Amino acid sequence: MNYAIAIDGPAGAGKSTIAKILAKELELIYVDTGALYRSIGYFVTQQGIDTADTAAVVASLEGLKVELRYVEGVQRVFVNGEDVSDYIRTPAISMAASAVSAIPAVRAFLLDTQRDIAAANSVVMDGRDIGTTILPDARIKIFLTASPESRAKRRFDELQEKGDPATYDEVLADMIKRDYDDTHREISPLKQAEDAIPVDTSGETLEQSVVRMKEIVYSRLAEG
Ligand code: C5P
Repeated sequence: MNYAIAIDGPAGAGKSTIAKILAKELELIYVDTGALYRSIGYFVTQQGIDTADTAAVVASLEGLKVELRYVEGVQRVFVNGEDVSDYIRTPAISMAASAVSAIPAVRAFLLDTQRDIAAANSVVMDGRDIGTTILPDARIKIFLTASPESRAKRRFDELQEKGDPATYDEVLADMIKRDYDDTHREISPLKQAEDAIPVDTSGETLEQSVVRMKEIVYSRLAEG
């Protein structure tokens, strides 16, 4: 019987790193749902469409094919057959993803993609609305948070490693705006599910957060 672990929370709380480690140890498929929204943000940007132009974004979904494939166990996202995984992690695409994710037709478009993967596999799925909307029956739900400053610092360090010129202040400002937009949108806002376990990773190293999350997940799994 397949089961799901849902990890929701704001950007930079450590969701993807922790989810990947859990998925590996528990031999589950890791599903990064943010990559789906990012791929649409990337696609519309490439098409020269303004993400604020809802009608144009919705029209661009016609015939669009977004798929997750696993290449040597690593998730890659394909748009109309092209692997866009390497182009979707820039600050501009983060903002575009957040903008398109507030459009109900975009969320509806990606709903089956997410549910189909969870129906066919046991998964660790991370996102914003997994526990509340996509997989309300997930066996374990975690709501992972951290202060905006510590999340911005982590994201800034990641970008620096990639040689991205964004400054810490820019990353923090983008993060605060994205958090605000994600928690205030009308459809599937970022929100803790009632039955989710809250985990605040502020001030912890990633290693410490991983240890804590593992304890929570393993003790929940042992409960059956
Ligand atoms: O998780 P990540 O930062 O890659 O997500 C990019 C954007 O996609 C988020 O800011 C959010 O607006 C959107 N998103 C969402 N629902 C999800 C995952 C991501 O709305 N399940």
